[in-house]
Amino acid sequence: MIGAGPVGLHAAFYAGLRGLSVRLLEAQPEIGGQLSALYPDKVVYDWPGLPAIRAAEIVAALAAQLAPFNPEFRFGEVAQQLTQTPQGWTVTTQKDSYPARALIVAAGLGALLPRGVQLSGVHPDVRTLPPDPQTLEGQRVLIVGGVPQAVEAALKLSASGARVSLTHRRALFRGSPAQLAQLQSLRESGQLHIYAPAELSRLDATGAWLDRGDEPQHVAAATVVVLNGHLPELTPLQSWPLGWQGEYIPADAAQRTVLPGVFVAGDLSLAGGDFKLLSVGLAQAALAANHAVHFVRPDQKAKPGHSSDRRLP
Ligand SMILES: Cc1cc2nc3c(=O)[nH]c(=O)nc-3n(C[C@H](O)[C@H](O)[C@H](O)COP(=O)(O)OP(=O)(O)OC[C@H]3O[C@@H](n4cnc5c(N)ncnc54)[C@H](O)[C@@H]3O)c2cc1C
Repeated sequence: MIGAGPVGLHAAFYAGLRGLSVRLLEAQPEIGGQLSALYPDKVVYDWPGLPAIRAAEIVAALAAQLAPFNPEFRFGEVAQQLTQTPQGWTVTTQKDSYPARALIVAAGLGALLPRGVQLSGVHPDVRTLPPDPQTLEGQRVLIVGGVPQAVEAALKLSASGARVSLTHRRALFRGSPAQLAQLQSLRESGQLHIYAPAELSRLDATGAWLDRGDEPQHVAAATVVVLNGHLPELTPLQSWPLGWQGEYIPADAAQRTVLPGVFVAGDLSLAGGDFKLLSVGLAQAALAANHAVHFVRPDQKAKPGHSSDRRLP
């Protein structure tokens, strides 16, 4: 799978259910695609069968359904090159090369990479990904951003003993109601400092200067974590000869692309037209994965039969 968004996860489930081994290459440090990166806190109202569910809960449910099939996840790797081999395909990322008999491109809007930010001044430890909380215990950490990842990082770092300050140019932060309540309670108890609204004007060797409309304020920090949202990057995949039509990959009714053994599903598939919806992408995932099974093992039918006729692990 190229992409571990909802569509890649569901395709991986189906491929696992049918007995294939699955590896998912994912640019982000976590599963969930747009749901994790862009709107984990939002409530989705058109997830089949559930009147209302938070995006983060959809991701957790897809992961739980997939877990028994033990797929291999390669996080923080961007699929860049595609090479045909006698056995199928090799996908090369910035770190390694991976062989595959079949591929499902479930890359959505593109690789969701941290949005860059122009900072003036120099600080010895600036990061654009949420750090491992265990590594910063007891340290002063300044988190810059109002996105759900910034709130989550602040809570996790605080829980593992870091001395956290959180700043954002607006007064409001995004997160689940429980996370926002926890943030407020840590703030009130003085365990976490919030500077918002505030503009980060410059870094220095010991922290950052914040502009809050009055006197510039210095916040000491051994580590500065800038979590400024994500931007999708489709360029690496657009060099693959998939007959691209704009930002879409054409597919037939089985989600096959023009390359043998390469399938597409989800937001990137022309088959869905402008219907960039979870339900549409998941249907395409089922088609792509089951046809990939038949491609890899021609003795197995593409049609999966009913899951209710099986006993799952
Ligand atoms: C704010 C918002 C709200 C939404 N609300 C709804 C809703 O209520 N209902 C609904 O049905 N839909 C909703 N959607 C749309 C829905 O989220 C998408 O249709 C869905 O995420 C598509 O899933 P996907 O797996 O195809 O792509 P994505 O979710 O984009 O996942 C693709 C994954 O592939 C990875 N990737 C891409 N390129 C590479 C590469 N070269 N190498 C490695 N990894 C790569 C990306 O990093 C990403 O994690 C919403 C979208 C947004 C932005």
